[in-house]
Amino acid sequence: MIHSKLPNTGTTIFSIMTQLANEHKAINLSQGFPEFQAFPELGRLVKQYIDAGFNQYAPMHGVKELREQICSKIQKHYKKAYNPDTEIVITSGATQALYTAITAFIHKGDEVIIFEPAYDSYVPVIELNGGIPVFIKLNAPNFSVNWTEVRAAITEKTKMIIVNNPHNPTGVVFSKEDLSILSKIVSNTDIIIISDEVYEHITFDGIQHISASSIPELAERTIVITSFGKTFHTTGWKVGYCVAPEELIKEIKKVHQYLVFSVNTPVQYALAEFLKDESSFLGLSTFYEEKRNYFAKLIGETRFKLIQNQGTFFQLVDISTITDEDDYSFAIRMTKEYGVASIPLSVFYSQKEKMSLIRFCFAKHNETLERGVERLIKL
Ligand code: PMP
Ligand code: GLN
Repeated sequence: MIHSKLPNTGTTIFSIMTQLANEHKAINLSQGFPEFQAFPELGRLVKQYIDAGFNQYAPMHGVKELREQICSKIQKHYKKAYNPDTEIVITSGATQALYTAITAFIHKGDEVIIFEPAYDSYVPVIELNGGIPVFIKLNAPNFSVNWTEVRAAITEKTKMIIVNNPHNPTGVVFSKEDLSILSKIVSNTDIIIISDEVYEHITFDGIQHISASSIPELAERTIVITSFGKTFHTTGWKVGYCVAPEELIKEIKKVHQYLVFSVNTPVQYALAEFLKDESSFLGLSTFYEEKRNYFAKLIGETRFKLIQNQGTFFQLVDISTITDEDDYSFAIRMTKEYGVASIPLSVFYSQKEKMSLIRFCFAKHNETLERGVERLIKL
């Protein structure tokens, strides 16, 4: 008899929908991965480092050149100086960084505030560590944070608040005011913040991403996590990192060293070199804004109703103009019968209520989006 540590957890929706899309030869606008080739120069650099023999274990917290390059990028763009020797760990994607950071600090009975809809890898990790997720719903229709509710949710057991900015799945980007209120709420507490910023380089309509690292009162208690998967079209390479003050990184390293020890060596060297050319990430917002606009124009020909977004490569749409079904059944049926896969919003909530929003990933070639929408028009 197996005594499950995660009795309420099933297979992640991203595996379920991608598998269903493959089975039904559907156009896969569900799981968030870019359809584009990795930047060719980056691929060339990886090969160069493999051929040059950089194939053994990297240092536990990451290759020095990459740690230094990331810290100077953060210093330049977010005006925060992290020590590349003591305040950064290179991780196997953001997923491992999240697991490691939550595990390093959450004890049995600790409360962790998270915002719903919530990316699906936070809750299981909190629960594996005996923590208690405390959910606060973002306010529909614009998914803003009710900070009064956040303040009221804090107890003496609150150990951590996890924010995701820009936000998956809604595409909401925190304003300076949001972050300033958050910093006031946590001042004079020992609350640690995790700021999941994997979409830091994808914001639209002139909206700037404000990293938690750029606000000194937040940076002193925040673990900023991000991933090169989103930035360089390389979600399959699984390289990311976390930066935080030294006392937090010290604890994170204790877990990291026994979870993976270290991360892919030639890719780290290649990223260190590739990051010197800023155009690769500075052009990303424009690239995806054009995609977002093109997809929105196409969706305009369907009966779906668009929900405004400010960043990420996800687009929420309202299905209530088309069906009375709940979002989950509809997303499954749409994949099977119409050949387009999406993600139902309800999976990002702890209480499974009937919802009428689904998420599309538009990080795809225009032809793919066109073929997808051609099918959606029939709905
Ligand atoms: N956080 C968010 C909000 C995400 O959307 C994702 C998925 N890309 C991750 C973390 C995980 O990132 P990675 O693929 O680098 O593990
Ligand atoms: N972050 C991606 C998404 O939201 C999926 C990552 C994964 O498949 N684990 O779709």
